[in-house]
Amino acid sequence: MTYLPITPPPHPARKWRPTPLLRATFALHLGVLVLLALRPEWWFWALVALAANHLLLSAAGLWPRGKCLGPNWVRLPAAAAPGHIAITIDDGPDPAVTPQVLDILDRYDARASFFCIGSQAERHPELCREIVRRGHAVENHSQHHRHHFSLFGPRRMAGEVVLGQDSLAAITGQRPLFFRPTAGLRNPFLEPILARHGLHLVSWTRRGYDTRNRDADDVTRRLTRNLAAGDILLLHDGNAARSAAGQPVILSVLPRVLEAAAAAGLKSIPLRSAL
Ligand SMILES: [Zn+2]
Repeated sequence: MTYLPITPPPHPARKWRPTPLLRATFALHLGVLVLLALRPEWWFWALVALAANHLLLSAAGLWPRGKCLGPNWVRLPAAAAPGHIAITIDDGPDPAVTPQVLDILDRYDARASFFCIGSQAERHPELCREIVRRGHAVENHSQHHRHHFSLFGPRRMAGEVVLGQDSLAAITGQRPLFFRPTAGLRNPFLEPILARHGLHLVSWTRRGYDTRNRDADDVTRRLTRNLAAGDILLLHDGNAARSAAGQPVILSVLPRVLEAAAAAGLKSIPLRSAL
């Protein structure tokens, strides 16, 4: 008998709307075609215009908090923001770090969104289910977390998103509703793919660079400076930098971020509660 994993039905698709930059890009390409048909001797200037356009698109994709390529959550929507922040934790699950992160979150009665890597979740499915059991959300951080994700073409990019969706949904029984690309870097192909799968792109309001910054005080400062309702904070349980004492930085940063939030009357909620 063939065993088929039961995955929840896909989330309804969103409508993809090209941004002004993308509409200008389509118009430019059309203009270049017309120009080359009428004045083929101007090919050099057509090439310069296309190169400049592609440079601009690449720059837009290298700006994690930018919205030139499509909608991008850099804060919680206004309706959900009062009294709330969203802590997001990337690159897990990690068997050595994630269980301790879950205990810290429990201690402060805080809920977070874990952007798990699909292949990593397949290695530790029980830990992934534990995240959901403890009241947090598991969201999609791609299947393999490739560092050159932003250079992928549409097919390969869609494969990374869909594989991540399928493996995380099969493990947790919940379909991710948010996607975050590796380091927040992307290209114009991503937004139509996310729209088709009902996913929302999310970056952050503030990050502490806790994959390479070994100074927990500095990471905490970066995350809590001007902490305000609606902020989305980025931390890492996977690939976490180690402090001088060899401890993953998140373990000393997270309690202090949660204390700062409590002092400001703010509670961390999963991103999906703000939808
Ligand atoms: Zn990552």
